[in-house]
Amino acid sequence: MSLADYPFTREAASRVEETGYSLEGLLEDPNPQPRLSRLVRKRATDRVLGAVRGEIPDGPAHPLAELLSYPLARVMVSCLDDDLLARRYALAEAKLAGKKMRRESLQDLLLLARDLDVHPQTGQNGLRVHFSDYLKAAARMRSPGWKLVNRSLERGWVTLTDRELARLLEERARDRIGRGLPLSVPAEICERLREDLTRIAEELSAKRAEEKVDLGEVTEDAFPPCIRGFLAQVASGANLAHSARFALTTFLLAVGMDVDEVVGVFNTSPDFDEERTRYQVEHISGKGGTRYKPPSCATMATYGNCPGEERLCRWVNHPLSYYERKVKRGGGG
Ligand code: SF4
Repeated sequence: MSLADYPFTREAASRVEETGYSLEGLLEDPNPQPRLSRLVRKRATDRVLGAVRGEIPDGPAHPLAELLSYPLARVMVSCLDDDLLARRYALAEAKLAGKKMRRESLQDLLLLARDLDVHPQTGQNGLRVHFSDYLKAAARMRSPGWKLVNRSLERGWVTLTDRELARLLEERARDRIGRGLPLSVPAEICERLREDLTRIAEELSAKRAEEKVDLGEVTEDAFPPCIRGFLAQVASGANLAHSARFALTTFLLAVGMDVDEVVGVFNTSPDFDEERTRYQVEHISGKGGTRYKPPSCATMATYGNCPGEERLCRWVNHPLSYYERKVKRGGGG
């Protein structure tokens, strides 16, 4: 196992410390180590750009540059101070590590697990983790196979395959990488990185424009505050709570969007899972026999999904009534 493949581990952080290199030193101009400095800076930029594009490419075969580029990439993400970028970055780094973890031996996975505060057991009963570790790592995994009720659980221990352990560690890595972001970075450091940061910021805003929620013929201006709020959250890359997701999906289908368009609306979340989203939207749209209706204002309020701050809200009892009234009045007028 190469530590450079897992630069977020405590072990890697101490290795970086041992090398004696500092961030300030690497960014010095003129630089006493120009080649290394260039490599580190290039790789750090590639890491962050990779996160914007959706995948960090494998690094060059230079373990020291690989190790040092990780803290610098975190600094770059922090200078840009953008929530969506920070989440995308943590996800992309974790995916890169996950790809490598799946190629590791069980022995190396166990070492990584310890560093990530997961404590698996091996023995006659196979590979197992305690359910408390399991729940921490699997919290974001929503497919039925990961639900604790669907796992073999014995006296608090959950049985796993090596591959599943690697997947859990990927999630723990994502938590570790995202922790503390954005860091507080002195302005002069961000200034020294300005050229790279400008490039990243440009790509990030182009990506945002590309992914902008497109509602086609639907009159978005006539949407009630609850639905506009959900869309704003989705556009910023946040994951909606289940009740909000349901309300948004049923509403958009009811105002005439088709399944593809609704799936597209959710395609801004950093961990967008197209297959799963399509399955849910199709199900809600009536593919399974029942077409679900959007919840009423009273139900929305019960789930804490009603901001209700507009005058028209006082006169309606359903988000669709709000929409219809507003469309009749001529959109946002
Ligand atoms: S009152 Fe109804 S339409 Fe208005 S924000 Fe609340 S749930 Fe939406």
